[in-house]
Amino acid sequence: LVNRMRPFGTTIFAEMSALAVRTGAVNLGQGFPDTDGPPEMLAAAAEALRSGRNQYPPGPGIPELRAAVAAHQHRFWGLEYDPDGEVVITAGATEAIAAAILALCEPGDEVVCFEPYYDSYAASIALAGAVRRPVTLRPGPDGRYAFDPAALRAAFGPRTRLVLLNSPHNPTGKVFTPAELALVAELCQEHGAYAVTDEVYEHLVFTDAASEHIPLASLPGMRERTLRISSAGKTFSCTGWKVGWASGPAALVSAMLRVKQFLTFVNAAPLQPAVAVALGLPDAYFTEFRAGMQARRDQLIGGLTEAGFEVLTPEGTYFVTADIGPLGGDDGIEFCRSLPQRCGVVAVPTQVFYDDPVAGRRLIRFAFCKRPELLAEAVSRLGAAL
Ligand code: PMP
Ligand code: GLN
Repeated sequence: LVNRMRPFGTTIFAEMSALAVRTGAVNLGQGFPDTDGPPEMLAAAAEALRSGRNQYPPGPGIPELRAAVAAHQHRFWGLEYDPDGEVVITAGATEAIAAAILALCEPGDEVVCFEPYYDSYAASIALAGAVRRPVTLRPGPDGRYAFDPAALRAAFGPRTRLVLLNSPHNPTGKVFTPAELALVAELCQEHGAYAVTDEVYEHLVFTDAASEHIPLASLPGMRERTLRISSAGKTFSCTGWKVGWASGPAALVSAMLRVKQFLTFVNAAPLQPAVAVALGLPDAYFTEFRAGMQARRDQLIGGLTEAGFEVLTPEGTYFVTADIGPLGGDDGIEFCRSLPQRCGVVAVPTQVFYDDPVAGRRLIRFAFCKRPELLAEAVSRLGAAL
């Protein structure tokens, strides 16, 4: 194994899902829904399989999906992208993130990111031989995660190549505010840096959040330097399909494609027309999807609080982080490894997503993208055993 990959073991998601299977615990660790996505989308996939759309599609993705991606971003965020040259379909957001970093970073270039960060970020940065410059998100007195603006300013420097921004943010549930985004935009422009934005939870910003979802690319001066990434997995409850996309100016998309063609070449042909159908669903689908998830959030938060955790209400995503301190816990990794035996529930320790060994030590993450009955079962197990 090459040195640059040595620090990376098995992902925490694989470890914790295997533990859930082994112990028969309720798996609130890895974030995947336990219900299927919209029936129109599933029918379109079945139809595509049956009607012979089973060979290599075009490298950047089929035209109807690229058009649907562009139309969706225009409908919800007012962004304009040319489906022909400014949109590329990828194997989930994960491939898009890797291809963007590999396309833009020389060895030694620096990538500013916020910790805790989604685990593929560190690995993709390392594969490119680049260096991550994390800025820590910490819970503030208002119950929201925030960063120190001076720390963000200090993270940018002459070697900064890009900033990797995930909002709504996994695992904290933070939604970056207009003022925070404006500072990121200002620093990118001051330092001539690109932005790669991971917006896979774009449709999961709850009605009580301080701000709605604002793509960084919609800020002045940012469209021309941003690759905006999203994926069908979260919005349409099909994480196993691995259909994602990136949009941005033609030069950046074409740089990504140069890399992407040798990572996966092309992606699952029959799933692409189906995701195009899903992206075109009426607004009501997206509103109901969010409302359903918000109700589950509140259900889980109620139960976790009753069980003794200190919980921060997420403004977005389908995750909630909980502090194990009030339950006498001090190390989230130990706590999560013993939780299935103690309570029959699996959660994920968020400290594995930090470089700072102290910041996330007592935090663990639960996913609430599950049927209310399953959440009720998890909550009752936790309440009985803790
Ligand atoms: N980014 C974030 C923040 C995520 O939570 C996930 C999904 N777990 C991904 C990227 C990866 O998305 P995909 O499954 O589409 O590759
Ligand atoms: N994005 C999901 C999560 O954060 C799943 C990630 C994965 O399994 N790689 O739980």
